Amino acid sequence: MVINSPIRLLIGTGYPILKKIECAEAIFGAYGRELLSDEKIKSLLDVYRQAIRQSWVQMEETGVVAECTDCATDGGASCCAKGIEDHFDATLLLINLLMGCELPSSRWDKTGCWFLGERGCKLIARHVICVNYICRRLYNRIGEKGLRPVQVKMIEETDAGFFLEEAIKKWLRSRGI
Ligand code: SF4
Ligand code: SF4
Repeated sequence: MVINSPIRLLIGTGYPILKKIECAEAIFGAYGRELLSDEKIKSLLDVYRQAIRQSWVQMEETGVVAECTDCATDGGASCCAKGIEDHFDATLLLINLLMGCELPSSRWDKTGCWFLGERGCKLIARHVICVNYICRRLYNRIGEKGLRPVQVKMIEETDAGFFLEEAIKKWLRSRGI
């Protein structure tokens, strides 16, 4: 059934980050409960959550987490730079809200990504750019062979995120949102 909702999903990334956050929060406020009780969305959210967890487990086991923590402590984790937030769209931000994340209303580090906090990334569902990023330091320290199992988990995570995003967009479209 199509409802003529006054709220509209912003499609694409070409809006200021606060506009996209505002849009995700408005949809979450109006439809979050319904989305979370939809069987298909619920199941895809579980698969995605599990895939994210598995990526982190693999990154811990392979030493990526230790290396990145060390880099963030003495090097400032240059990978989470200002402007990366512009790659996010409102749907991915909505997914973070559905996963229980709070979206920041201001930038913590003036040279860093909008979502960077004192203890690293504030998001659960990260952009494919963030998930897939392997810098020279990681290549040098862990090596291609060591990183292979991490890359397998990264692909599973980004695939699960993609299927969930598509299902949410379809759900919203079917209601005229
Ligand atoms: S990905 Fe590379 S630059 Fe980013 S925190 Fe890890 S080691 Fe540092
Ligand atoms: S979204 Fe998170 S992981 Fe990605 S650049 Fe921003 S702070 Fe880093």
